[in-house]
Amino acid sequence: MTKLAQKIDVLLAEVESMALSRESTRQREAAREARWQKVADRWISLAAKASDLMSPEEDQRVSEAILRSDDGPYRGWISDLASGRCRLPQLSAETMKQLMLAWLSPLVDAYMNAAICASCGLEYPKCKLPPVSDWKLLPGKQPGVGEPPWYDLPEFFTSCPHCGSILQGQGMDWPHLIDMKSYPWMQLDGYVGKQTEENNRNG
Ligand SMILES: [Zn+2]
Repeated sequence: MTKLAQKIDVLLAEVESMALSRESTRQREAAREARWQKVADRWISLAAKASDLMSPEEDQRVSEAILRSDDGPYRGWISDLASGRCRLPQLSAETMKQLMLAWLSPLVDAYMNAAICASCGLEYPKCKLPPVSDWKLLPGKQPGVGEPPWYDLPEFFTSCPHCGSILQGQGMDWPHLIDMKSYPWMQLDGYVGKQTEENNRNG
């Protein structure tokens, strides 16, 4: 075989492998899209069941929040579901109601507003913290010594409203750290999957 023919062979092999890799990326994307559709449908169906348990006043506030086209209170949660930073387990209607109402609270922290249950992957809202100077130590605790919590701080949920795990220390995580981590709940239904490199490159 001449050198030129060898080069062409290598080139053809490269082109073929690129085409195969594009194809498998497309398949992964299609599977991810199908999982997202299921998660979105679950969210909508849970919201409808939760709404049946709400007072007319609560239902009104939730509907207005859902219909807001701007940065509504559920946007961060839904966006984290879509980008694979949390999971939507098959919640009870009562749990969905508690979560939907908590997200509407004026006490939701504007910055670190969400955390994730390390056991089931559910995202939940975090409460605004008082200034550090006002933090009170829990009885018998020293800061940074032993297991948290060390301070008596306001929380919407101290244990997961779905699976009951304690949401402290290793029991919880932050959405922006999830991309780099692997949790058993990522294998369960209600999880879209991590964004592929392709997705990240496209923004
Ligand atoms: Zn949980």
